[in-house]
Amino acid sequence: MPESFDCQSCGACCSTSADWPRFSTEPDEALDLIPEALVSLDLSGMRCENDRCLALAGTVGQGTACTIYAIRPVVCRECQPGDPECLIARDLHGIV
Ligand code: SF4
Ligand code: SF4
Repeated sequence: MPESFDCQSCGACCSTSADWPRFSTEPDEALDLIPEALVSLDLSGMRCENDRCLALAGTVGQGTACTIYAIRPVVCRECQPGDPECLIARDLHGIV
C-alpha cells in the first residue's frame, strides 16, 4: 500500500456520502453495540452530518480515526485502501 493511502491520515470514505455507511449483513447483536447517538434516525446506517459519519474523529486529509473501529459496520470493514470506493472518495476530497 502506498504511504499516501494511510487511512489514519485520510478519512475520505467516511465523509463522502451519508448513504455509504449503511448497515447490511450485521446481526442485531453487532448493531446493538453501536451507540444510539451514532445511528441514523431511520436505523438504516450510521448517522451523518451532511456527508460525514458522526463516528469519524479528526480532520479529513490530515488525521482521522473511527471512534467505533472495533464495532464498525460491514461496509466500513470491506472498504480497502485503493479500491474503487476509496479512490472516488479521495478524489472528491482532493487527496492524491
Ligand atoms: S478513502 Fe481509502 S485511504 Fe482514505 S480512509 Fe478510506 S479506505 Fe482509507
Ligand atoms: S463507522 Fe467508522 S469506518 Fe464507518 S464510516 Fe463511520 S467513521 Fe468511517
